[in-house]
Amino acid sequence: MRKIFDMRLNVSDIPDDGLQAELDLPVEISGSAGPEVVHVRINASRFGKKILIEGSLKMSLSLECSRCLKEYSFPLDLAFRDEYNPVEEFENEDEQELTGRELDISSYSNDEIDISELIKEQVLLNVPMKPLCRSDCQGICPGCGKHLNEGSCECKAKEIDPRLAPLKKLKESMKDQDV
Ligand SMILES: [Zn+2]
Ligand SMILES: [Zn+2]
Repeated sequence: MRKIFDMRLNVSDIPDDGLQAELDLPVEISGSAGPEVVHVRINASRFGKKILIEGSLKMSLSLECSRCLKEYSFPLDLAFRDEYNPVEEFENEDEQELTGRELDISSYSNDEIDISELIKEQVLLNVPMKPLCRSDCQGICPGCGKHLNEGSCECKAKEIDPRLAPLKKLKESMKDQDV
């Protein structure tokens, strides 16, 4: 993820009965072909200086599988809830910053909340670090370049010493765990 187009919410624009917005934001994600559009719905409410933002986002990402390098589509559909306090309040109370981390409390300054930052964070948190087209993707044979999801190749059978096969299996299961 490199860039998301700016979208700022002015706190004083939020009416007493809340503000609803529905919009499409273009997002650029590293490793994907071009900007993708994320469909966002938000509901902002004001409680004194405290702003509560609830919303949901939907998008379909085109990711490259980290094992077989095939492009596949990865749907994101999630809800979020974030509380914003003016930044001055954080400066006064150290304690609040601590609880803030646990409760998903963010801060805003100059009466502005950067919605694009919030969306970016939500997308980043939910895009897999190691994308896989399917959890059991077999990848590509380093010997012949064959996509092993489509069937095994000749060299695989030759390369692996049967005595080492259980070890290889163990290694692979360990690799899967850190995904
Ligand atoms: Zn794959
Ligand atoms: Zn092969």
